[in-house]
Amino acid sequence: MRTGGSWRCQLSRTMRLVLRWCRPHRAARRGGRCGGRVSQLWSYTKVMLKSLYYNSLTDSDTLFDCIFEPIYWIVDNITRWFGVVFVSLVVLLTSSVVIIIYLFVIPIILSTYPVILSCWHLGCGHWLLLMVVFHYYKATTTAAGHPPKEKVHMPAVSMCKRCITPKPARTHHCSICSTCVLKMDHHCPWLNNCVGHFNHRYFYSFCLYMTLGCVYCSISSWNLFVKAYDAVERYYQTPPPEFTSMDTTGHKCIIFLWVLTSSVAVALGGLTLWHTVLITRGETSVERHINKKESRRLRESGKIFRNPYHHGRLNNWKLLFGVEKRSHWLTRVLLPSAHLPKGDGIVWDCIFTRRDPMAI
Ligand SMILES: [Zn+2]
Ligand SMILES: [Zn+2]
Repeated sequence: MRTGGSWRCQLSRTMRLVLRWCRPHRAARRGGRCGGRVSQLWSYTKVMLKSLYYNSLTDSDTLFDCIFEPIYWIVDNITRWFGVVFVSLVVLLTSSVVIIIYLFVIPIILSTYPVILSCWHLGCGHWLLLMVVFHYYKATTTAAGHPPKEKVHMPAVSMCKRCITPKPARTHHCSICSTCVLKMDHHCPWLNNCVGHFNHRYFYSFCLYMTLGCVYCSISSWNLFVKAYDAVERYYQTPPPEFTSMDTTGHKCIIFLWVLTSSVAVALGGLTLWHTVLITRGETSVERHINKKESRRLRESGKIFRNPYHHGRLNNWKLLFGVEKRSHWLTRVLLPSAHLPKGDGIVWDCIFTRRDPMAI
């Protein structure tokens, strides 16, 4: 009897639970089939939408990246488009300076300067022009270098979120070129190209020779500029009859030449100096930011950061210019040379051994 009673008791409890569970469904049926379906569809839609973007690794950085994505897209596209304008501007302004020198400066040098000084100006000027044109052409047309897309075994330090491919050491993604770049330094709008492993030397040499060329032009044309400025000022105050229109055009062109070359010498000189410091330290522009952050982080825990790609000041320069013997300073640095840089840009010599860790 006792067993039968407990069985009945169990059954009634189960029935009560089933009825309680069924109550909302009955209510939903009472409320109408339509309302139930809508709420069911809504709950399915919510699950579907969440399944599209849910990621356990999502954090505030990812959220901000998503919000700013349209702005990045606009900036990247504008920079890409402006690259063509900037390159045209470099070609146009450099050509105008060269034309002014050939039309107005060289005739004055040949007619007034001694022969030795004339030869020096012609030789030096044409050497700088050759170096600027060669390095600018090579820097704009040489690809910076990209990691291989096909599945090959290569040492990688991380994965690129955009390309979904492994990233070797010193490789970074360029959002303007939409690809990963080996030993990426920066994306240069004046070259309309990324500066990386295969064209870093061309970029630096262009900056160096362009700065030297502008300094040379502004110093050597200083006397001509002062004379031209005085002449133009006198002409506008009281136009004398002995001045022809060709004279005033020549004077104005010399003023334009001096103002342009001295402005570029200051602006580009600053940039060249900055890159000189970076190369001496064995860093790229991107690595400067990363290394700065890393050294601050390690300093807080009482450690010192050491750059693994700093092979010594002189060796860093030899690596950049590809100098392997003394004669290379002449043939590879002071003369145009199209030799390839050392290494493939994927595997890098690191100055540390296992016993000598990165942070001490
Ligand atoms: Zn990438
Ligand atoms: Zn780029």
